[in-house]
Amino acid sequence: MRQIYLDHNATTPVHPEVLEAFMSFYRERYGNPSSIHWAGRAVRGAVENAREQVALLLNADPVEVIFTSCGTEADNMAIKGVASALRSRGNHIISSRTEHPAVVNSCIWLESQGYEITWLATDENGAPDPAALDDAITDRTILISLMFANHETGALLPVREIGDIALRRRIYFHCDAVQAVGKVPVDFRGLNIGLLALSGHKIYAPKGVGALVVRKGVKLSPFIHGGPQERNRRGGTENVAGIVALGKACELALAAMDAESRRLTALRDRLEAGILATIADVKKHCMGGPRLPHTSCLSFLGTEADSLLLNLDLLGIAASSGSACTSGTLKASSVLMAMGVDPAFAKGTVRFSLGRETTEEDIDYVLEVMPGIVARLRKHE
Ligand code: PLP
Repeated sequence: MRQIYLDHNATTPVHPEVLEAFMSFYRERYGNPSSIHWAGRAVRGAVENAREQVALLLNADPVEVIFTSCGTEADNMAIKGVASALRSRGNHIISSRTEHPAVVNSCIWLESQGYEITWLATDENGAPDPAALDDAITDRTILISLMFANHETGALLPVREIGDIALRRRIYFHCDAVQAVGKVPVDFRGLNIGLLALSGHKIYAPKGVGALVVRKGVKLSPFIHGGPQERNRRGGTENVAGIVALGKACELALAAMDAESRRLTALRDRLEAGILATIADVKKHCMGGPRLPHTSCLSFLGTEADSLLLNLDLLGIAASSGSACTSGTLKASSVLMAMGVDPAFAKGTVRFSLGRETTEEDIDYVLEVMPGIVARLRKHE
């Protein structure tokens, strides 16, 4: 059966060149970078080279890059690390319910430890109002945690305005850029971001590696205590092969970004236009604001996401939804609910996220089968 993968926001296949770099470190260069002998020396330089590749993609300084095991760890490290380091200054954090669970649940845990969280509302394009952010800041505020691009809708947040406010009010700004890095330009320094999280497996590197980029001078308590790795900021023997792969993936993303962004925007627009032209009662989310080039979030009235995804899967199409099925009842995505989307639409939402191997034929196949699936489900539900 034909297989079409349209779930790149969940994870991406490893790029062949990245895989090659990764495997060579497992095969031949197995040393511990902290060892002073030949085997250690052979890999230390590779880790530092990867740090430079990550920094170059983000306009950051290599010393600002801390390698982690994933995006979730980077988010936890940023939020809990700043909360702990600045506890004597304040206990107030500003975030949004539309953030990834790595951020939302870190904040909820901090709430149980005596911190106060303000959850900013977002508009129908998934963006918080910068004026509301400014108003929410108090003399106890220590951190703003707002993402670069939303994982479900693809909405790009007003990061420049948020960074400007953070700079003016002298508050650290943590930005979860897991879905944006490698897809759109991310200027760490120019946007006044204090801490930025990214993840390897969203950009064609393997799972098990990510990074937190921390501006020089930002106070951060270590999250994982151990050896002196990562300049005493994150203990644990480095995942050398994963780090090298992440560096390579960043290098490739930088080279391909402009052309790939144009290509994916055209494919995404073809998908959306085709669906809207052939199926009634479809809502396309976040269309009024800037979006990631490769993500399309569509709600089909009178359907349920699980049935849509199952039917797509039966035809070889992998997509996803933000809905969660708890004890037999389908709960609409918390991101869409926080954006104020009508629950009747929200529960029938599918996210298509395109990637480097997606072709026009793939999109046309989806366009061919989608009207039939929706019509069948609407008849039965
Ligand atoms: N933040 C966002 C916006 C994400 O989309 C994800 C993964 O889906 C994460 C964080 C977590 O990244 P990881 O899977 O590397 O832990």
